[in-house]
Formats: sequence, C-alpha cells, structure tokens
Amino acid sequence: MEEDLKIDRSKWHKPWNLGHYDENATHYEGLRSRCLKCGVSFVFSAQEQKQAFEVEHRYPRYLPTLCSACSGEWETLEKQILEYEHSWEANRRDLACDREFLDMWLALLKKGQSYRKKRFESRIRMLVKTIGGLS
Ligand SMILES: [Zn+2]
Repeated sequence: MEEDLKIDRSKWHKPWNLGHYDENATHYEGLRSRCLKCGVSFVFSAQEQKQAFEVEHRYPRYLPTLCSACSGEWETLEKQILEYEHSWEANRRDLACDREFLDMWLALLKKGQSYRKKRFESRIRMLVKTIGGLS
C-alpha cells in the first residue's frame, strides 16, 4: 500500500478506547456499514477512518450511518432546514400565517426524518398544529 494508513492512536480522541480494532492492529482496514436511509452496503475506507479518527477526532467507535450519496443529500437538506429555522426565529409572527412557508418546512422535516440523523418530532407537531389552526 502506497499511502500510510497506519493507526496512530496518539491522535485519537480517546486513545485508550480500542474502537473497531484490537490492540495489535497496526493499519486501518475498510469497515463495512449499511446505510440507514437507502439500505445500501458501503465501505468506510481506511483513508476515511484516518481522517475521521486522527484529524476530526471522532469517537473511536464511530461508524458512518449514511452512504456517501445519502450523506450528501442529508447535508443539503439539513442546510435548508436550518434556513427555515432561522427565518422562523426572525419572523415568527408573520410566518405563522404563511401556509406555503409552513407546508414547505414541514415537508423538509418529514423528509429529514428518513435520514435518521436528527429527530424533528416536536417541530413537526408544532407545524401540524399551526397549519391546522389556519384552516
Ligand atoms: Zn444511502
């Protein structure tokens, strides 16, 4: 292997936690995971692990729950949801009567649920109630 994918536990967030490897392991190896959104089986590569554990200091037992395609979709969706959240914080009174805004936000949150990264139950309840009050 050309790239140096040696495990350097000194850079880990919790070096004493063995994570996915036993104490004799010297190099990262691809780990298989299954996407919670689309069900596809994918590999958390040695390179990605080195980045996750030694640069981003992820928890040693971290395993991605989304494939790269779904992960990209989730990032876009999460940004959109945040924009709605910010608009709501800034102008709650007017937006509470804006059916189109509320419907769009609710649709995004429902879509977001299927990625199983965050739970939006209380927000969804609030929106359903607010929309119900309009009609
Ligand atoms: Zn997926």
